[in-house]
Amino acid sequence: MIAAFLGVGLFAVGAGIVGVISYERLSKELAAIAREHLPGLASAARLAEASARVIAGMPELANAERRDGYERGRRVVGERLSELDKVLSERAGSGFDAPALTAVAAEIRRNLGAIDDVAGRRFTLAERIRGVSEELRWLQADLIDEIEPLTDDARFNIDTALGQSGGEVAAAKPNTIREETRKSEALMTLNAQANLIVGLFGRLGTVQTREDMEQTGHVIGEAVDQLEVEAKALAGWPDTITVRQITQRLIGLADTTTGLPGLKRSELAALADAQRLISESRRLVTELGTLVSQEVQRTEAVAKEAAERSADAIRLGRNLLLAIAAASLLGALLIGWFYVRRHLVARLRILTEAATSIASGQSSALLPKAGNDELGDLTRALAVFRQTRDDLIQAAKLAALGQMAAGLSHELNQPLAAIRSHAHNGALLLELGRPEEARKAIDRIQALTTRAADLIAHLRRFARKPGVVLSPVSVSDTIETALSLFEPRFAAERVTLTRDLPAMRLHVHAEDIRLEQVLVNLVANALDAVAGSNDATIAIGARRKGHKVEIWVGDSGPGIERAHLERIFDPFFTTKPVGSGLGLGLSLSYNIIKDLGGTLAVAETGPAGTRFLITLEGTTAHVMAPLEIDA
Ligand code: ADP
Repeated sequence: MIAAFLGVGLFAVGAGIVGVISYERLSKELAAIAREHLPGLASAARLAEASARVIAGMPELANAERRDGYERGRRVVGERLSELDKVLSERAGSGFDAPALTAVAAEIRRNLGAIDDVAGRRFTLAERIRGVSEELRWLQADLIDEIEPLTDDARFNIDTALGQSGGEVAAAKPNTIREETRKSEALMTLNAQANLIVGLFGRLGTVQTREDMEQTGHVIGEAVDQLEVEAKALAGWPDTITVRQITQRLIGLADTTTGLPGLKRSELAALADAQRLISESRRLVTELGTLVSQEVQRTEAVAKEAAERSADAIRLGRNLLLAIAAASLLGALLIGWFYVRRHLVARLRILTEAATSIASGQSSALLPKAGNDELGDLTRALAVFRQTRDDLIQAAKLAALGQMAAGLSHELNQPLAAIRSHAHNGALLLELGRPEEARKAIDRIQALTTRAADLIAHLRRFARKPGVVLSPVSVSDTIETALSLFEPRFAAERVTLTRDLPAMRLHVHAEDIRLEQVLVNLVANALDAVAGSNDATIAIGARRKGHKVEIWVGDSGPGIERAHLERIFDPFFTTKPVGSGLGLGLSLSYNIIKDLGGTLAVAETGPAGTRFLITLEGTTAHVMAPLEIDA
């Protein structure tokens, strides 16, 4: 039992250890998740956000047309890059170093520096171009302002010369008219040429490609050559000095290297550089985005792995606990089956059966081997009880014998008196010389001693403990033997005895002494029941009923009380005064008949008397021998 409890206890301790190990593992994994993976995931989210903010700031930078817009965008991107650097250095500090990402961020920063340089150049050029364009507009306006009065003067001079000649061209001053006309034409051509150049400058402001630029520059060059020719043509008129100065300035602005085309060319080159750098920066931010998403995925994968490990730990712990619980259950069942059921319950069952059969009067009750435990103590106590009970039963039988002692002494006294008388007669007859008659007296003595010896042998058999071998037993012989023990009581108590036995000798499967013991008990009870009554009658009989044989003992006693009826077969139940009955007769008889394979019951009881009925299995012997009437 201790081993069984130890086994169950060991299972419980095992379950506890497995539980502790599983929870230890789980708590380690959870701590790692809380300490590393969750901050890793959070910083990955911050990283993704910071890089997205950098990426979002880039288009504004690339599209900025003016210096202030660029600088605003540049400030924003710079700040966002710093944020990204901060997140990266934090991650590197918490063990999530991503060197490729840091390198790309540094490259973006370098690239931004180059973009800054180009942007500086580009915006300076654009400003200068805007200044030149402004100057051009002013020059054009000045030129018109200068040319208009000069052409008006020339026209006036022509008109004046024509007026003086009365409208006759031939009569007029031909030189004046020619000169003024040439001057006017030259001024107009110059104006037109200057307008063309200003227009071409305007177009130059919008060209986007180098080819367009070169082509427009070429056309401007041709227009400038023409303008120079026209300016030279005006050299003869001193009042055109301002016009020529303005024209010279215009020509200066159209210079292919130092003028507007040169500026425009430089601006285009800067623009190309800027675009190259911007596209490089686009490539870098795309790479940044890719690296960040890889980094986020990597962090997520690590966190997922940790979460899966935790789930595994939980699963393993749960499965182990379930397995141990199942093993404990199985162990408990096995212990229950092998130990409790096969050992304890089996021993208890044997003990219960033994106790029941001991209580019901069987002396053959088997007791289990007494061990060193409480059940062993119980077994030993039962053994003592059985011995005591057996002794009591024996005592009951001896008490019954004692009751019969009166009848028996009479039975013995009679032959003894006869023997004494026959011995006396025999001695006299021998003295008288009558040996023949003396011989007869001796023969009678012999017969009487045989009878006395038989009687004593019978008593000895009755008193000894019963055997276990069953054989065909003659019912009438057994009845007669039992009744013979009561003959003196029948006579003394004036009880009428009636026999109802069939002509054919009946045999039952039994042991003669045990059947006789039952009959003795029943007849003794019947005699007790009728004691003191007038017309006391006891009827005893037997008959065959199919394969069975019924034997009954009836009396004319007062019957058994209804309340007692259920208890009369219980051991130690008696209604007789102390010293007269032990209450074992019926219980013993009931069990004897049960052992012989039959039944004992109260067939009827009431004020008219009681009849006990024994039913036993008959044997074939009951048809073989005819009944010898016993005396
Ligand atoms: P005991 O005779 O020692 O009392 P028994 O077991 O033989 O023990 O009988 C138990 C009781 O059954 C008796 O005390 C008596 O009350 C009742 N009993 C038995 N036989 C008869 C009978 N023939 N008539 C009336 N009562 C009987």
